[in-house]
Amino acid sequence: MHTAHKIMKVFVTRRIPQEGMKILSQSGVCKVSLWDSDEPVPREELLKGVAGAHGLLCLLSDKIDTEVLHAAGPNLKVISTLSVGFDHMAMDEIKKRGVRVGYTPDVLTDATAELTVALLLATARRLPEGVLEVKNGGWSTWKPLWLCGYGLLGSTVGVIGLGRIGMAIARRLKPFGVKRLLYSGRTAKSYASDVEGEYVPLDTLLSECDFVVVSCALTPETQGLCNKAFFSKMKNNAVFINTSRGAVVNQEDLYQALTTGQIACAGLDVTTPEPLPTDHPLLTLKNCVVLPHIGSATYSTRGIMAELSANNLLAGLQGTDMPSELKF
Ligand code: NDP
Repeated sequence: MHTAHKIMKVFVTRRIPQEGMKILSQSGVCKVSLWDSDEPVPREELLKGVAGAHGLLCLLSDKIDTEVLHAAGPNLKVISTLSVGFDHMAMDEIKKRGVRVGYTPDVLTDATAELTVALLLATARRLPEGVLEVKNGGWSTWKPLWLCGYGLLGSTVGVIGLGRIGMAIARRLKPFGVKRLLYSGRTAKSYASDVEGEYVPLDTLLSECDFVVVSCALTPETQGLCNKAFFSKMKNNAVFINTSRGAVVNQEDLYQALTTGQIACAGLDVTTPEPLPTDHPLLTLKNCVVLPHIGSATYSTRGIMAELSANNLLAGLQGTDMPSELKF
């Protein structure tokens, strides 16, 4: 005689790559209900969909707060997010309820670091401006002083938050001829020696760097970290890049810094809110390059993220070891 397994209920808040859906549907462990769209699930539908669920597979655009946890009810065993960031989830409340959390570190590190380098070069070398000039007839001839920007050779680069992604960014930037690599964070990292990284106070990093790259997690401490005081310590010819989370930056202060010549230019892959309204002041600036949060967006990375988040979810449902469990 075999034990009859109870089929558990899972809610998936978005259409995700088929690699992940296949794992869930073939598991025989759960019945999946899916918000079958590329657009975010409306709040009411999320609350409805999650009711009675044992597992929730969510995205960084879903706010997982007390209300959602309450709507899910006591069945909920596991939340698996298709992201490495977890600032969209009320971790205290999740912990209180004994719900396990899966996330997707490592597998998106290379893609995100690569995008960060692309954004840095695009911003510093003014690629979007140049592309526009070609299309709109602004390209009259080769001009010695036209569309000049900043290069990495001989520069000092600062990484705020030398974690997995920060380190992968540093490794990629070094071969461009970076002279010094500074980093700041809560603690010095032994692995920083691989990139000859120097652990310095934030103020030192800001005053000495030609490129400032933000790759820390969004926490109460880092929220609004890049504000007026922050930008005022940077060099006037410095390039600012943020691929962490939008809320790390005070966007009004960034706008001021960019329009007053406090800093040279900025590249952002993340904003508040997302999407950034098309009439947002930052979008009127030639020296600000904004991307739509595409750090991890390669076909293969997204497939692997979907796979990992599905496997995390299944492990959470079955009470086994997760491939990537968030310990908090
Ligand atoms: P890690 O946890 O490996 O790194 C996070 C880093 O943040 C750590 O090195 C930590 O430094 C640092 N940090 C935390 N608190 C502070 C602080 N107060 N001041 C300075 N640094 C701090 O995470 P990952 O590298 O994997 O990911 C980093 C972030 O990147 C994610 O949280 C996510 O928000 C974002 N991300 C964005 C993507 C995109 O598409 N643009 C894609 C993937 C991730 P310390 O150890 O010293 O505390």
